[in-house]
Amino acid sequence: MTKTPGAFEIKDVDLAGRIGRLHTRSGVVETPAFFPVIDIYRQDLPPDMIREAGFNQAITNAYLTLKRFGEKAAEKGIHEIIGFHGVVMTDSGAYQMLEYGEVDVDQETIIRYQERIRSDIGVILDVPTGMASYEKARESVYATIKRAEEAVELIKDSPIVWVLPVQGAGYRDLVEASAEAARRLAPSYGMLGIGGLTVYMEQYDYLTVVETIHAAKRILPGGKPVHLFGAGHPLIITLAIALGVDAFDSASYILYARDDRIITDYGVERLDRLEYLPCTCPVCSKYTPRELLEMSKEERVKLLALHNLYAIRRAIDRAKQAIREGRLWELLEEISRKHPAAYEAFRAFKDFKEYLESTTPYSKGVVRGLRLYGEESLSHPKIQLYRKRIEEYARGRRTDRIILKPYPKGGDECPRSQPPGEALTAYYTPYLGIIPEELCGTYPTIHFNYPERRVPKAVVEELAEYVAGFIKTHYPGAHVTVEDGEGWRLQAARLIRERLGLQDQ
Ligand SMILES: [Zn+2]
Repeated sequence: MTKTPGAFEIKDVDLAGRIGRLHTRSGVVETPAFFPVIDIYRQDLPPDMIREAGFNQAITNAYLTLKRFGEKAAEKGIHEIIGFHGVVMTDSGAYQMLEYGEVDVDQETIIRYQERIRSDIGVILDVPTGMASYEKARESVYATIKRAEEAVELIKDSPIVWVLPVQGAGYRDLVEASAEAARRLAPSYGMLGIGGLTVYMEQYDYLTVVETIHAAKRILPGGKPVHLFGAGHPLIITLAIALGVDAFDSASYILYARDDRIITDYGVERLDRLEYLPCTCPVCSKYTPRELLEMSKEERVKLLALHNLYAIRRAIDRAKQAIREGRLWELLEEISRKHPAAYEAFRAFKDFKEYLESTTPYSKGVVRGLRLYGEESLSHPKIQLYRKRIEEYARGRRTDRIILKPYPKGGDECPRSQPPGEALTAYYTPYLGIIPEELCGTYPTIHFNYPERRVPKAVVEELAEYVAGFIKTHYPGAHVTVEDGEGWRLQAARLIRERLGLQDQ
């Protein structure tokens, strides 16, 4: 069924990441989606090959199209001009403004031009922040808000999905002010964007990128798709997907290729430094680095660009599958080890607790066990949600006698020792913290897996701190017995007793 352009349906969610369907005049874009940049002046990779690599959507620049083709593009339509017959997004030229100063075109001209060339998704003429001083950034935010307000009348009843970019990157209060304005104006727009982060991504400042996305996404309405401008690396794309970004665009795949560099899962590598290609895409399955280096420059750029697109597609497909399985957090733990910048950014996710807890579904139709690795797994939103549930349980379960037993073995059935009586029997365990016997068997009390024989010290300490705090808060004055066992059970029992001021039992 054809829906109005701009209609956005969310099919599945994990953390803040979602799989969605964005309707446009030229078809549906399944999100998260990457829009490869098609250069209006120079196409090193034929657009057909972009589609073959699995991308049914692409982006090009409306301002440069105007400069090069003028009215010809309006006659033929942008799809014909670039030879890409999928969903075509056009950027307004704002980025050129950032690079080269003023753009000699006004907003109404560029909006009307995007309509005449029949773009599917268009961008208003925002004022990108880039890496600017606070004053400059502030100016760009308020100039963009003003443009967004002025555009409302111009884009009314337009068949294009219009994007309103949030600016102020790098300054939390400015990002928030920009996002507040975007929320207010959102009913007039089909999509929201986050701009001005390209420079931070190029410098591997992923921490600033995720902080900016978080600051904006907390405020932006959840029902609108959000585009992150200039994101073209698997690591930042995955991190951004988890925070609720639905679309990306970048020219990185072609720029790296022109420079004989390839995108890998863990960074970017120079082709001449590789003896093997750590990839099994159609390009890498066929050629060795040496063979690629011996080709003509033109052929090599084409093949490297194609590989780079496959690398980006792999990252997006992996994130989508993780959303389906409810394993996006585990994916973040994995990819964060691939580059210090990604690790630094992932460490910040524990500050995004509230936001992620508000979006993460507690459990899904298909139950998949939680995989827990180290200290970072303590911030797993599903653990935090479980603990909230336990707090609620405790408020309704009074007792003056508590028996704490170590959870026998990660992932096994909870043993039911005696029928629940006056005393509250509960298991203590790394990560989840505490499992009342009565809740044993419910998700995720028997659906988690951790390195049982090598629990990190910090995790055992956190367990003791949490369990003791739980008892002090909910059962002050109760008589507590702490049973111990081997390995972490012994350490944890000692620490719990110590924190509760109990003698060794
Ligand atoms: Zn490859």
